[in-house]
Amino acid sequence: MASIFPALDRPKPDWRGAGLRYFSLGFYLRERFGGRVQKVSLDAGFTCPNVDGTVTTGGCTFCDNRSFSPSRRQPRLKIGGQLDDGIRRLKRRYDVEQFIAYFQPATNTYAPVDRLRPLYESVLGDSRVVGVAIGTRPDCVPDDVLGLLEELAGRTYLSVEYGIQTMHNRSLDWMNRGHHHDATIDALARSRGRGFEICAHLILGLPGETPADMLATAREVVRLGVDAVKIHNLYAVKRTPLADQVERGEVTLISRADYIRTLVDILEILPPEIIVERVSGDAPGDYFIGPSWCLDKPGVLRALDAELTRRDTWQGKRALGG
Ligand code: SF4
Repeated sequence: MASIFPALDRPKPDWRGAGLRYFSLGFYLRERFGGRVQKVSLDAGFTCPNVDGTVTTGGCTFCDNRSFSPSRRQPRLKIGGQLDDGIRRLKRRYDVEQFIAYFQPATNTYAPVDRLRPLYESVLGDSRVVGVAIGTRPDCVPDDVLGLLEELAGRTYLSVEYGIQTMHNRSLDWMNRGHHHDATIDALARSRGRGFEICAHLILGLPGETPADMLATAREVVRLGVDAVKIHNLYAVKRTPLADQVERGEVTLISRADYIRTLVDILEILPPEIIVERVSGDAPGDYFIGPSWCLDKPGVLRALDAELTRRDTWQGKRALGG
């Protein structure tokens, strides 16, 4: 069943006319829902197939996934309670009445359909929830799960966020991802046209990747037909293999100048209708190892604006031929 909000038919707001240099998520959501919308992060107690031994163990090199134990597979607090808490917190900070229920930590399609259905449906009856976002991996969307997501997209706004990270298999091996790029090609081919938005999560600054490699990944996700991207730099948090590698000097984290330069190169080749959901990473300060510059999110956004202005460029400038 087609969505009432088919991704390909979604409104294409005039973000350049609004003075923006890229199609930001905030702008998109305001245009689409007529006001501010905030995501409420929900932890449904999932794990990942590269944590529980299905494809490997240890999880991704940069991810503190030790809490993704089998005993965590049931959420600590019921979803309704998490939603209420999250909405209460966000309303204290922002003037906001509309929310997207965001199933965020771990792999949120990693269960049989008969467990996923009541979970997703549990948030739909809440009048404050205008949509759902689901974070997952390309190797965890069998056809029956995609059928459920298609059905859900017929009832609400749905964004499915695929952790793609890179198209380069050597980098996927480095991060202990447990799948290769062929899984991404397959998942996106089976996801297109089902009425939900496809968001690609990408990481810049993976060890050994050149700017040309990162640009190749961006071109590839455009080719695969994504609706949105989330981009951030590789950063290290405590209690991860990456933290040890950084400490031993085996991995050098990308500088802000190199990150911004490559990010702008990527924005230039992204078609203007692709939503840019995120351009920076964030982690709690007490949990964070580096690079220190990415803790200053306003500084990252200012540096991005400065580089876009210096080059007098914008999203899609090179995708459109200049
Ligand atoms: S797939 Fe995501 S949540 Fe799972 S271990 Fe990797 S980064 Fe962490």
